[in-house]
Amino acid sequence: MSQNKKALVTGITGQDGAWLSKLLIDKGYEVYGASRRNSNRNMYGLKYLGIEDKVKIVDFDLLDYSNIHDVITSIQPDEIYNLAAQSFVAASFKQPISTSMIDGIGVAYILDIVKTFLPKTKIYQASTSELYGKVQETPQTEKTPLYPRSPYGVAKQYAHWMMINYRESYDIFATCGILFNHESELRGKEFVTRKITDHVAKYSLGNKAELRIGNLDSSRDWGYAKDYVEGMYMMMQHETPDTFVLATGETHSIRDFTNYSFNAINVEVRWEGKGVEEKGYDSKTGELLVVVDPSYFRPAEVDILTGDASKAKKVLGWEPKTKLDQLVKIMVEHDIKLNS
Ligand code: NDP
Ligand code: GDP
Repeated sequence: MSQNKKALVTGITGQDGAWLSKLLIDKGYEVYGASRRNSNRNMYGLKYLGIEDKVKIVDFDLLDYSNIHDVITSIQPDEIYNLAAQSFVAASFKQPISTSMIDGIGVAYILDIVKTFLPKTKIYQASTSELYGKVQETPQTEKTPLYPRSPYGVAKQYAHWMMINYRESYDIFATCGILFNHESELRGKEFVTRKITDHVAKYSLGNKAELRIGNLDSSRDWGYAKDYVEGMYMMMQHETPDTFVLATGETHSIRDFTNYSFNAINVEVRWEGKGVEEKGYDSKTGELLVVVDPSYFRPAEVDILTGDASKAKKVLGWEPKTKLDQLVKIMVEHDIKLNS
């Protein structure tokens, strides 16, 4: 009888770690969830998906070479999904060095350990549309030149190229998914989508505070995380390591996302004013709903991202299944339940 495949998923307490682990467990994998030690490990995602007892948690810190070495060589995974990162762009401007160490050098540690001790182990690296930053062409594909605009993007670019370099130099199965923004009911509340859906949920339950938000014009290509982890898995089953974009191809502004979210509780937003003076009002009652708060502006902004996932569709058969209005509904309904 063949043994179950073993997967090591880093970033297990994060959004994608939970969704991917659910998928791998459903496929019969033995899943090891890597998590750094902290005083309040948050396993909400694993609990929410009903897999808390099925994932074996191991202590793992991307800053610690010896720890990563011991974890990888003792488990001997068939597949490593490196989803761990300091993933919040705004925080990377405040903590540029630790972000570089975790998101950049941490990946080099994994690559070198795999090259030296377990060269048959496959690695997936969570690359990002933030690599495109100040975009050089639209839509963005695997061939679009990179121009990151934050310490996060720069650290991820180093990791991305180290993956490609180890793939080409040592024949390591090192695959990169350049994923555009993907959200879900498990998204961190510091990210703009979940911040908005959580706010709207609380508003519908009677908390009438205004939503304080940054750049309303910024635009993203948002998909559903559950769809995107399927793409990660498909990349790792492909016969050769490669780089793939996952995206919906549709772009919406933060203002659009705010509109969709209030629409989900049957409120229509009327916008007035420009720039920092722009405000959103309830079109029926005139109540103030949204104000711009410049403290959320970033030192350098990624204005607009639009991905072209046609390679993933052609080579892997991957396609996003969830439209933005469905995603917003899922998130708002979840947040209403959670806050009730
Ligand atoms: P999250 O922020 O939800 O999760 C990040 C995970 O990384 C958490 O489990 C966190 O653990 C862990 N982590 C942070 N620092 C370390 C460290 N030093 N050692 C070990 N673990 C650490 O991110 P997502 O799930 O949304 O994203 C997954 C990956 O995909 C990330 O690499 C992200 O940069 C990338 N990505 C995400 C996109 C998105 O739209 N979601 C788009 C493109 C790429 P802890 O709980 O201890 O903080
Ligand atoms: P990112 O694309 O990985 O940076 O994901 P975020 O959800 O953090 O930000 C997406 C965009 O929303 C960026 O252009 C932000 O500048 C913009 N934005 C506007 N207001 C806010 C806010 O209040 N919080 C966050 N996180 N982003 C905001």
